[in-house]
Amino acid sequence: MKYSPKEMKQSLEAQQFNFKKKFGQNFIVDENIINAIVKKAEIDENCLVIEIGPGAGSLTYKLAQVASQVLCYEIDTKLEDVLQHNLRDCQNVTVLYQDFLEADVKIDIKQYQYDTLYVVANLPYYITTPIIVKLIEDQIPVDKIVVMVQKEVGNRFKAQPGNKDYNSLSVYLNYYFDVTKLLDVSRNVFVPKPNVDSIVVQLKKKDQLFQLDHPPFFFQLVRDAFRQKRKTLRNNLKAYNLDMIEQVLSKYHMDLSVRAEQLSITIFVELANTLSRHSH
Ligand code: SAM
Repeated sequence: MKYSPKEMKQSLEAQQFNFKKKFGQNFIVDENIINAIVKKAEIDENCLVIEIGPGAGSLTYKLAQVASQVLCYEIDTKLEDVLQHNLRDCQNVTVLYQDFLEADVKIDIKQYQYDTLYVVANLPYYITTPIIVKLIEDQIPVDKIVVMVQKEVGNRFKAQPGNKDYNSLSVYLNYYFDVTKLLDVSRNVFVPKPNVDSIVVQLKKKDQLFQLDHPPFFFQLVRDAFRQKRKTLRNNLKAYNLDMIEQVLSKYHMDLSVRAEQLSITIFVELANTLSRHSH
């Protein structure tokens, strides 16, 4: 089959498919966007790609042309016939009909042989962050994540210190990944049309992570520092050793009157390591 968004749309119509808002179902019907995502993802033939939410399979079909294997998780069993039809020529695609957030991905990928593991997806927007947090917390050995997300959320992913979108999620993600924007995507390329624009972001695993003495303490400190965005560190970090925090900040020509949004990951790492060394 030659891929055509028109054919995909027709097969959905033939099935009298009801798009489900609760599953974040906005399907891409623009072949150029799909081609652009796949090209920017730079997938090679030894790559296992995980796709979360194949929908009618339009992105899946293109992924299957370049990747070694594609493993999909789709929560909506009503898409089974549509996917079987649309992906009938793709022998290297497996679709597991289950909630990705409940999946045991480490077990699922055990049976594959691959050099690189990528996640490429047009994510269901209601669970964008939980999906990425799951990939990190379940320690799935992903080399790269290329995902379409709501523009506002994507901006937070890649926000740098000093930017209004910079928050604890930015620090969390930028600790593990180099985050870049790959594409802007108009709401007009989806059916049904969502009421937000989207961007495609790439999260590439960092070659080397910052050394943390006690990772959970670092992430807790970051969350606490951002707890009330408008407040200074003196307020948000009351429960910590403020003298010690001030000592570290002074090295960066800062004091306790700064806000968390001004601190780089390097400073957060130094704060966390200094505090945890003195409390253990
Ligand atoms: N990839 C398709 C495309 O680009 O046209 C569909 C993308 S649509 C934004 C999101 C897809 O994720 C839908 O097919 C939806 O049913 C599926 N989905 C929603 N929640 C899910 C979950 N928890 N686990 C797996 N798939 C999910």
